[in-house]
Amino acid sequence: MRRMKKDATYLGLPLFRSLNRSKDLHLLTERVLQRVKSWKSRLLSKAGRACLIQAVGSSMATYYIKGGNFLDIESRGSDSGMWKAVLQAQSILQKGLCRAIDASHGVSWVSQFILPNNRWNVDMVRDWFSHSDAHAILNVDLPEEDKEDFWIWLGENNGNFSIRSTCKLLKGGIPENDGIEIWKLIWHSPLHSRLKFLWWHLLRDALPTKGKLATILEGISDSCILCNEATESSLHLFWFCPFAKALWFQLGWSIRTELVNVQSWMQWTEWFKMDSNRPSSMSFSDFMAHTLCIVEGIWNERNRRLVGEKEMDILRVKDMIRLKTIDHIMVSSKAVPEILSWAPPPSSWLCCNSDVAISSSGSVLAAVFRDEWSNIIAIKTSMTNVNDPLLAEALAVCMAATEATSMGLNNIIFQSDNLNVVNEFQDQASPVFNIKIQCNFMAHNIAKWATCYKVSGRTSSDALPAALLDDLIEWNPGL
Ligand SMILES: [Zn+2]
Repeated sequence: MRRMKKDATYLGLPLFRSLNRSKDLHLLTERVLQRVKSWKSRLLSKAGRACLIQAVGSSMATYYIKGGNFLDIESRGSDSGMWKAVLQAQSILQKGLCRAIDASHGVSWVSQFILPNNRWNVDMVRDWFSHSDAHAILNVDLPEEDKEDFWIWLGENNGNFSIRSTCKLLKGGIPENDGIEIWKLIWHSPLHSRLKFLWWHLLRDALPTKGKLATILEGISDSCILCNEATESSLHLFWFCPFAKALWFQLGWSIRTELVNVQSWMQWTEWFKMDSNRPSSMSFSDFMAHTLCIVEGIWNERNRRLVGEKEMDILRVKDMIRLKTIDHIMVSSKAVPEILSWAPPPSSWLCCNSDVAISSSGSVLAAVFRDEWSNIIAIKTSMTNVNDPLLAEALAVCMAATEATSMGLNNIIFQSDNLNVVNEFQDQASPVFNIKIQCNFMAHNIAKWATCYKVSGRTSSDALPAALLDDLIEWNPGL
């Protein structure tokens, strides 16, 4: 028989614990670094990182208990820090652990109420217990065969231990649907999943800001890289930082962040969920789409500066965010205010709908201007050689704008049923709104009519067939 060396290892882990714990743990550190070397953390996805943590975690030291019950073990001064930490879980486990006992050979007095055929001794149970207790006991189903005793976790209906239910227990049994509404709001919102994920991170305050990292890692400065004036918390970075403040003011409908005094993103969400606190006529989900594009833009710039890449000035960041917002709109096509049926413009405004009729030789552009009482103020048509639909649609909006200028009109809401055109005009002072093709028939019919009769220029509505001037019904030239 050969005596093993003190530093012998088995499956890569030290077989004997030495008094020199840092030496024992050095091996663990080496293993972690070895693994991490091949995993470029910057390139890792969230799932990849979870895998890495799991892989490294499984190589950590395992402790064995001989001849004892984990719940009864008492912590001793000489125990290692890690073992002490493990023992701290005792009190947590005791909150939800329950031992399921096989009645036939378990606690003796229970077995007295059970007949040899493994059925309750009904008479005896009724004799000994109150009516309601007896009822409850007799409702306990006895197992057909002998079973080993086993542990069950009361936190979950299936009796299996879970981190989720443990958190719930520790927080003192939060009511079932606490906070669920807010998560539903996120996951059911019409946003792109990337933005939903970002929103979720915000509300959980789960982004690794410097303020957060500095509390767990030594030698990390917690100051905001964008202003160097405050601790970088997520609320500072995306809301109170002068950099964010400027972006919100310029991009976010002149919102002044310092006037919204909130302590958390939950509070922030509650504040902006109230219709009166949002820019007028903007739905909460549209607002969140813009918000998350701003948050994403700031976070990207912050990361760029953190790794020493060239700084982008705030105007550039603003443009990037604008582009991102359009990009997002293209994906979800929900963030653009979409008009589902034609409605008159607000007082002292005009609404201009435009459309085109394409033929092999070119296209006819049409625009119709209406006022707050739905009166037709002007109709304009124009023939072009363009037969590309997107270009023609864009030209129709331009023709309408030129016509408005020549008439000396200022307050105009332009509506087009072409989403690409709408997106192209987003950056302009008067954006073009998207109207569903199903309710833009008046402009469409006028273009069709002008094609049939080769009419170009300004036209009075009196000269047009009445059937043409309908928002919802297509005009048929044959009738
Ligand atoms: Zn800052």
